Amino acid sequence: MSLHILRSPSAVPPEGAPPSPEYDGRAAFPREGTAAERTGSERLSLAITALIVFLPFLALGLAVWLLWGSLIHPVDVLLAAVLYTVTGLGVTVGFHRGLTHGSYRAVRQLRTALAVAGSMSFQGDVIGWVAIHRRHHAFTDRPGDPHSPYRYGTSVCGQLRGLVDAHVGWLFRNDPTSAARYAPDLLADRDIRAVSRAFPALCVLTLALPFAAGRLIGGSWVSALTTLLWAGLVRIALLHHVTWSVNSLCHVIGERPFRTRRHDRATNLWPLALLSFGESWHNLHHADPTCARHGVDRGQLDPSAAVIRFFERLGWVRDVRWPTPDRIDARRA
Ligand SMILES: [Zn+2]
Ligand SMILES: [Zn+2]
Repeated sequence: MSLHILRSPSAVPPEGAPPSPEYDGRAAFPREGTAAERTGSERLSLAITALIVFLPFLALGLAVWLLWGSLIHPVDVLLAAVLYTVTGLGVTVGFHRGLTHGSYRAVRQLRTALAVAGSMSFQGDVIGWVAIHRRHHAFTDRPGDPHSPYRYGTSVCGQLRGLVDAHVGWLFRNDPTSAARYAPDLLADRDIRAVSRAFPALCVLTLALPFAAGRLIGGSWVSALTTLLWAGLVRIALLHHVTWSVNSLCHVIGERPFRTRRHDRATNLWPLALLSFGESWHNLHHADPTCARHGVDRGQLDPSAAVIRFFERLGWVRDVRWPTPDRIDARRA
């Protein structure tokens, strides 16, 4: 799954060079995307990205320090869990399985609501997110992939450096993805364009909600701040790192029971299944990207698929691309 922050979709034509036909699956990728001088607005966007990436981390440190002597309020934990689930499903069911891959068709209100929920995860505006993720599928683990842990080759050092880069380093690279090329369908969609424009306001809302809830429920400014800390910043940081782990760990560690395209090394990594709402069954996803269920084998938890099934029963989504035994078996390694 891809993720970017506050990097608006670019109208410039295709980034970087076309993938080198000689890429052998082991060497470092040729350098790209960093040569151009950054403009003022690009520098500002970079500074904001840095703030968003590191601020929740600092908050986590502060949260642990605060915990040393005082208790977390149960309301904070409950609100954090609710907002984690709503925004996380906005990303997995809305941004990813729905808008990026078209695994189902949703009624207009649900489609928009999921796009709003996903935007509140602080993972970038919806159109930019989808464009980057489609580019990741177009060039998986080879030159042109916006975030691949194989970027610096397969030596031990290169692999470690690549993991850090695929996790978070790529966010700081000046390597815009063309929305015109990768997400023309969303650029042509009025509802989605409106959600995309509202992204800064939704970033404020995702923090203002827990702050206001803490003030109302706890009755003091201190409770407003602790709820903001746990259900706002810490919740965002956790979802960030789970999402980023699908980009980094789920292309290096885990099982590969299904065949993927050449060089594509996506893996299934069970420990992340629940926290990632089923997205860590990433090997199946890369083997069959439009499939609405990623955890297709017995015992593989996939909460996002369960939610899509629920929406289907309500009549809010249709044309769901559920896995069939034939299709799955044809893709086994
Ligand atoms: Zn995908
Ligand atoms: Zn991937």
